[in-house]
Amino acid sequence: MTATEEIKAGIDVFVEKSSRRLEEIWENPELAYEEHIAHDTMCAVLEENGFEVTRHAHGLDTSFEASFGSGGRLMIFCAEYDALPDIGHACGHNLIGVASLTAFLALASVLKVTGQPGRIRILGTPAEEHGGGKLDLLKAGAFEGADAALMSHPMPSHYYHDTHGVVGAAGARLVAKQSKLAEYRGRTAHSAANPWDGINALDAVVAGYNNVSLLRQQMNPTQRLHCAIIDAPKRTNIIAGQTSIAWQCRSPKMNDLQSLTERLCACLHAGALATGCELNLKDETAYSDLLINDTLCGLYQSHMTGYSQNILKVDPEYIQASSDFGDSRKKGVVTHHWSFTEAAGSDVAFQICLTVGKCLALCAWELLSDDSKYEAAVTDWKIARSE
Ligand SMILES: [Zn+2]
Ligand SMILES: [Zn+2]
Repeated sequence: MTATEEIKAGIDVFVEKSSRRLEEIWENPELAYEEHIAHDTMCAVLEENGFEVTRHAHGLDTSFEASFGSGGRLMIFCAEYDALPDIGHACGHNLIGVASLTAFLALASVLKVTGQPGRIRILGTPAEEHGGGKLDLLKAGAFEGADAALMSHPMPSHYYHDTHGVVGAAGARLVAKQSKLAEYRGRTAHSAANPWDGINALDAVVAGYNNVSLLRQQMNPTQRLHCAIIDAPKRTNIIAGQTSIAWQCRSPKMNDLQSLTERLCACLHAGALATGCELNLKDETAYSDLLINDTLCGLYQSHMTGYSQNILKVDPEYIQASSDFGDSRKKGVVTHHWSFTEAAGSDVAFQICLTVGKCLALCAWELLSDDSKYEAAVTDWKIARSE
């Protein structure tokens, strides 16, 4: 049998044995670092398929790890499974978990049969939507020794269909992101009896917000600033003594992100200055922009074509959200919205995920078994990093 046939056979066994159990992840959406059901379900499926699993891996309660193979290069499949507050799996991370699990099980079955040198690992990577679990895992050494790490991300397929007539993209240019938390401290007073004795922390948030609104018209269209008020007053008759607001800045490259972040900070400081509040500005998670690897994108695109799925090699535009391959063809479906939650739980999405997993497995297989393709991918990575 060829690698492709072996991978198909491996997947069929997996689908028969375990795939339905994975629906539990979609049915029970869990927030960042609290993905206990997802963690237990993924671990159970791996164990059912005969793999030894390290639960609660790398000091993270909801991370896990399983490995297979020996010698050769090391490929890591990253499995996400966190959801969003109130809107469930509106980013489809349940599908990322399924695709990566599919890839791991399929490629393990090929390595078993062929005896090809090479090691593969599935790594449970919690907390993508909030906190940055992969950064924790990176710090804990979970990616040490890896030659490549692979993952997919669902997108509504009309996103690419309308503009390019295809259902997805192998490479997506994801922008860099910096998060900031602004905590304003003022002084409480009675809102009617003696407001002049108060220092209004709500006004500081509002003034900072308005400053950012003015800044937006001077920003590059590829940049974004968006926020959520975290701590707001609950009473109208008290001048707010304490408030906080979380901001996120996004820009295509890290360098531009830095100057945008400085401009945001100036707006927030101005809010404090105007109202007389103290400002405590905290740095939260920063994500680097995603580099495009031409060789890897080409491999993935050609395998998807083999399954009659036409996708772009690389999305020419920067997208302000997540990457890869979509599910429902329905119009009006957008990520971080209920419409996508529904799509992410559909049978169509699940079936496409299995295809995505097979193609990830085939890409990893080529990186393990073909030195020239691996070297080409490394060269692309070095070029992308130096740009
Ligand atoms: Zn998301
Ligand atoms: Zn996402």
